Amino acid sequence: MSPQPENFRKTKIICTIGPATNSSEMIEALARAGMNIARLNMSHGDHKFHGDIIRKIKNINKKLKHPIAILLDTQGPEIRTGDVNAELDLKVGEIFKFHIIPGLESEAKSVFVNYSDIVNDLKEGDKVTVDNGLINLVVLEKKEKELICRVLDGGKLGSRKHINLPGIRVNLPSVTAKDKRDILFGLEEDIDFIALSFVRSADDIVGLKALVEENGGHAKIIAKIEDQEAVSNYKEIISEADGIMVARGDLGVEIEIHELPIIQRKIIKECAIQGKPVIVATHLLESMINFPSPTRAEVTDVANAVYEEVDCIMLSGETATGKYPVRCVEMLHNIALRIEKSGGGVGYINERIPADQKEQLAKATANLADSLKVPAVIVITRRGTTAINLAGFHPNFPVIHAFTNMTSIRRKLWINRGILPYRIDFSSDPEKTITQAIETIKKNKMVQSGDKVVILSDVIAGVDRVDTIQVREVK
Ligand code: PGA
Ligand code: MN
Repeated sequence: MSPQPENFRKTKIICTIGPATNSSEMIEALARAGMNIARLNMSHGDHKFHGDIIRKIKNINKKLKHPIAILLDTQGPEIRTGDVNAELDLKVGEIFKFHIIPGLESEAKSVFVNYSDIVNDLKEGDKVTVDNGLINLVVLEKKEKELICRVLDGGKLGSRKHINLPGIRVNLPSVTAKDKRDILFGLEEDIDFIALSFVRSADDIVGLKALVEENGGHAKIIAKIEDQEAVSNYKEIISEADGIMVARGDLGVEIEIHELPIIQRKIIKECAIQGKPVIVATHLLESMINFPSPTRAEVTDVANAVYEEVDCIMLSGETATGKYPVRCVEMLHNIALRIEKSGGGVGYINERIPADQKEQLAKATANLADSLKVPAVIVITRRGTTAINLAGFHPNFPVIHAFTNMTSIRRKLWINRGILPYRIDFSSDPEKTITQAIETIKKNKMVQSGDKVVILSDVIAGVDRVDTIQVREVK
């Protein structure tokens, strides 16, 4: 879709690509409906599966006016049940065992778990949650290689189901050997973002950044806040990461679920204070996995995230395996656009204290653009930092047209609220670059003759680099 001022959506859309959407036709349909970033979930599929998707995206990107970005989401230290021959039926009140003996056939009332410390880590009375909160058990007794539990909430247990141990610090590295292989694969494919699952501390991000750098990669790091430990360290994590994901799927079972809205708000606000992009993820349109329209509560949940000026909203099962992937994107697009047009931002601009001159300039630009109510700010930015800084102050009115001369920087700017990224060749004469940028957005009908635009750029004047904020009228 080629955005116009009336249909440009500031809130970006991330779609997980899975069996329902891994064809070229579907990926292109999602992109044309409004997907800005495609997410590859490394908990499922092998490198061939994801490599094929990446190749398809790269081909589609050649046709799109605004190429989409790719986010690789690591599996992380995920605990899973083993394979079962047939679904096990767990009934309330029954005894059920988790064992750690590989190769032992699953019996009707027991299953293998791929985490050998589960017996050491848990004690009587602790909870085990299976399949994202659907099945719950309490530990009654520990044996050497098994946990004897009572079923609190029953259900059918299939193979390789996700297990959560709420409140327990799992003794696995935050980047596992599999994650490392997946990350190296992603860097090789020049993906744009790596989302790190089950981040616990800022150090996890430091470690991943080093791994990316050692391998000559340029991927940005998104920290997924999905358990109590990450929530306890959220400010430091936000400060170290390039962006944050409120991973509500796991958070909703790792903490008391009624704490979730408060934590979501706290994280969104802290990201605004620190000028970092934030993604709200999971269950946004869950019912549309099976049905053509969402629940009223889902629409309101999406709307609330947009009111709070999050940078991205994310679809998981809805687009990976659901029946209505394109309709889900259209739904998010329509809700987000409607809420954005309803006016009145949260007013984060004064929450964030500029740390240096660059950020002072970004804040001044945001204030100027808002007080003049201009439809557009043009940012000339090599590495994207100036545009990210400006987006971090959440200006209310303008679309942020970010012009970079690097394709990979351009794609990465999709994650920031309000940025519409372009690639142009920079001229040695800064005036020419600015004229070209204005002409581009005019040609795209984002502004018309007589409109005022604010321009933020740094230019080389003689031997000095001069930061400038300008107001110009479109000819
Ligand atoms: P996942 O992460 O989909 O990789 O589990 C998101 C979440 O937990 O919400
Ligand atoms: Mn998760």
